[in-house]
Amino acid sequence: MTSLSHEVLQDKFRGAILGCFLGDAFGSGFEGMDPDRAMFHMSILAKKVTRKYTDDTDMTLALAESIIQCGKVDPEDIAKQFSLHCDLSRGYAIGTIKAVQALRAGLKWGEVARVVFENGSFGNGAAMRVSPVGLVYHHDLDGLKESVIKQASITHVHPLGQWGAVMQACSVALAVIQDPKERFKKERTIIGLREILWGGPIEYIRALNKIEEMLSQGRRLQACEVARSLGNGVEAHLSVPSACYIAITYGPDFCDAIRAAISLGGDTDTIAGMAGAIVGAHVGEKGLPVEWVEQLEDGPRGRSFAENLADRLFESWREIHQTSSG
Ligand SMILES: [Mg+2]
Repeated sequence: MTSLSHEVLQDKFRGAILGCFLGDAFGSGFEGMDPDRAMFHMSILAKKVTRKYTDDTDMTLALAESIIQCGKVDPEDIAKQFSLHCDLSRGYAIGTIKAVQALRAGLKWGEVARVVFENGSFGNGAAMRVSPVGLVYHHDLDGLKESVIKQASITHVHPLGQWGAVMQACSVALAVIQDPKERFKKERTIIGLREILWGGPIEYIRALNKIEEMLSQGRRLQACEVARSLGNGVEAHLSVPSACYIAITYGPDFCDAIRAAISLGGDTDTIAGMAGAIVGAHVGEKGLPVEWVEQLEDGPRGRSFAENLADRLFESWREIHQTSSG
């Protein structure tokens, strides 16, 4: 268990939520590009403009609100928060649009996922929003797995979609317990991921093997090599491992990690959002680039709202932690 002070931990909660926001908002202008084109257009990042978030952050905020209100992961309430707060104009995939519309039409949360995809979705939608669960269960990886599957099952009942969320939440949790002043502990993270992914789909075990092999080369691989080896798609097993590799390799340098995630091309906002949540959970808000954070939209559910939500989520963790340890 971590011996980090509450002040440091609270900063890490802010770092993870804002890290997702930053990766999503900075990555969204590159969606669908191939790695070469994404690299070519990287100068867009230097422009000082208001950066708007998309579905990744929108759902992350709604999930955090539910955990704060319920003091746990309650799928019925999460579905209610999605129904109330998801802004479907923010770049949602068609499957999620249909799921939220079904909830708004009165369908029960347990019936929605198979209405959209008969065999369940294996997209990265359950993983992209999951960082609040990784934060409040960073002290309890068994509790984390159970809660992640619960929150995923509202929209994702396919094992690939659910276990991708487990891998992402666990990566966030393992980043929370690391000292922000030290470099990312790669071996410890891989061991932790192996333990939690044991018994899950073989695709994630294979991806971990590849990540280990890539790390053993002792160099940072080119974007096209990472995209070819681990993927850059909207499928959970072809995007979550890529985000983990980027976070492990480039953290604690937040800007380098986001640039590397975007340079993969493909589902850039989600991969950068997931990598951003992991690196943010490691370095905390103090380790985020101020000039980037200042560019984030700050409307009714913008940057200040997200910061405040992270603080309230930290208070929820204190209650969950006290309950589970005593
Ligand atoms: Mg998005």
